[in-house]
Amino acid sequence: MSKIEKHEFQAEVKQILDLVVRSLYSNKDIFLRELVSNACDALDRRRFEAITNSDFEPEGDYEVTIQREPGDRILTVLDNGIGMSRREVVENLGTIAHSGSKEFLAALAQQGQTTPDLIGEFGVGFYASFMVADRVEVVTRRLGEDTGTLWRSSGDAEFIVEDAERAGPGTTIRLHLKAVDEENGLKDYMTEWTIREIIKRYSDFVSYPIRMEIESTDSKKKNQIETLNSMKAIWTRPKNEVTDEEYREFYKHIAHDWTDPLSHISVKLEGAVEARALLFIPSKAPLDLYYQEMSYRGIQLYVRQVFIMDECKDLMPRHLRFIKGVVDSEDLSLNVSREMLQQNRQISAVRKFLVRKIFDELRRLKQHESEKYQRFWREFGAVLKEGLVGWDDKKETILDLMLCTSSTSAGEFTGIEDYVNRMKDGQDIIYYITGPDQETLANSPHIEKFVDQGHEVLFLSDRVDEMWLQQPPEYKGKKWKSVGADDVEIGENQKQEKKDLQNKTAKPKNLLSTLQGHLSDQVKDVRLSSRMTDSPACLVSDSDELSPQLAAMLREMGQDVPRIKRILELNPDHPIVVSLQEKFEQDKNAPEIEEYALLLHGQALLAEGAELPNPTDFGTRVAQLMEKALQDSSNSRRAETP
Ligand code: ADP
Repeated sequence: MSKIEKHEFQAEVKQILDLVVRSLYSNKDIFLRELVSNACDALDRRRFEAITNSDFEPEGDYEVTIQREPGDRILTVLDNGIGMSRREVVENLGTIAHSGSKEFLAALAQQGQTTPDLIGEFGVGFYASFMVADRVEVVTRRLGEDTGTLWRSSGDAEFIVEDAERAGPGTTIRLHLKAVDEENGLKDYMTEWTIREIIKRYSDFVSYPIRMEIESTDSKKKNQIETLNSMKAIWTRPKNEVTDEEYREFYKHIAHDWTDPLSHISVKLEGAVEARALLFIPSKAPLDLYYQEMSYRGIQLYVRQVFIMDECKDLMPRHLRFIKGVVDSEDLSLNVSREMLQQNRQISAVRKFLVRKIFDELRRLKQHESEKYQRFWREFGAVLKEGLVGWDDKKETILDLMLCTSSTSAGEFTGIEDYVNRMKDGQDIIYYITGPDQETLANSPHIEKFVDQGHEVLFLSDRVDEMWLQQPPEYKGKKWKSVGADDVEIGENQKQEKKDLQNKTAKPKNLLSTLQGHLSDQVKDVRLSSRMTDSPACLVSDSDELSPQLAAMLREMGQDVPRIKRILELNPDHPIVVSLQEKFEQDKNAPEIEEYALLLHGQALLAEGAELPNPTDFGTRVAQLMEKALQDSSNSRRAETP
């Protein structure tokens, strides 16, 4: 018995549909690209299942068919792919399935307005149908199931599903077209050449035939079924014959991204292992780039031009997971499985080769297309740096590609290589500081002396920096040192400075131990330092211990990391410290001593962008201090007036 169910679209889908139906976006042709692209994915998936079960092979070819019924203005796109079960229909065509649409919504939310161009920049997939149709019906049957499902909607708030018959597995999408409106980009999608042109433009390289019935001009002859696309795998064609537009469209097809890629890499591996690859560097990071289980479409594997699988993670290291593309192997067996790939020697040879080519291209971009490269780095730099964690021989290469800002770069990017070239004579250490953002780092007390003495300090503010800097790889023979480390050596006159400091320390020794006593829960030592020029205090870490940021990250990840006590350093020349010493000499038990210990510690935390253990307490103390300062100043003014 056929059960008819009415469903509401998920709120996000309604939002998208609302925009799509009003359809302010001018390029409406792309609806067909989206439908063809989905059909191809479904064919790919059926073919993959048929590898292990030959019953799943279709009788004829794997194909996409386009039908036109001009009388009723119905355009149909059908495939004999994997199809969808009833549950899948409700899920896939009622909620947001793919990340492009999610990004689209995120961008909408960010802009707080409905910019029509956003539809062009992001994908809305299947829902793009409603740009050209006011009613859509989908009849689909999942491979391996007997009955099908009908899904229909007018693109408003709801859709209806019921059981339906379909001759074999696959999906049929029937679009009841809106009236032609050339002015608003609605072409007549009933005409043969319009369809031909769109397919040629967006889907020519698709590896399945896209067929359409063509009316015979001779009324005595029967209509012909014609294949509209050349099906020529774009990566097998000579590079100079493929236009940039073809590359771009191919990228959009495989990556389900509507934004043009930043760059493409077309390569051929010859010799013991043979393969071709066409890889793309996207221009925008997907939202799920940092999810552990990111469902990236990544690399598609073909064997001798036959599609084998999507998401072939074994062909790309994790820190290059943003690369999209196709790899076509000459050597692998057609029924290679995911498990077999993991240890396959050919696959690892191809992977090594691809990684080298990607790095070559990145290096080229960095050298010759600086602006583009900076865009790349903003989107993917932090992912690339994941390659610096763990064991990999590519570390120096990644460091070559790294960009960051520094104490002298005024917010502009600089390369590490450039930094090394600018190092002062006798400097053999790369100085850096990590923290939450550029601004905090630029104002950090830790860099004061370095800046004062003309030493450049690199600013590293990505989360991953904390990780790889635990064991930083040498770069051009230079070691790395955090300016927030307790034992970093500053300045040229180390010996003299140390001596001066010792002399200064001799006097307030008791003060330092008293302060330490008040802060014993938070810090393991309070001492004087020549690190600062303007700030009164800062916190430094033991070189062998985890940085506080890393400790916090590990805790966030659920690890049990013990509290790490750091060292509070005071600037002996700062007026606060000088006055505190005077106060201490007058009265060792003055309540201000404890008060100032807590305030200085809190202030040092704030200066590095860290969170205070008890912000309310700190706030109250600051308020009391302000109150007292105001009272004191008006008291003294009153005393002055005769
Ligand atoms: P995307 O294709 O980018 O994931 P869509 O909104 O275009 O997003 O489609 C949503 C989902 O619906 C697809 O991921 C797929 O699972 C399913 N789907 C769409 N078209 C077809 C089809 N022709 N055959 C089988 N499944 C399909």
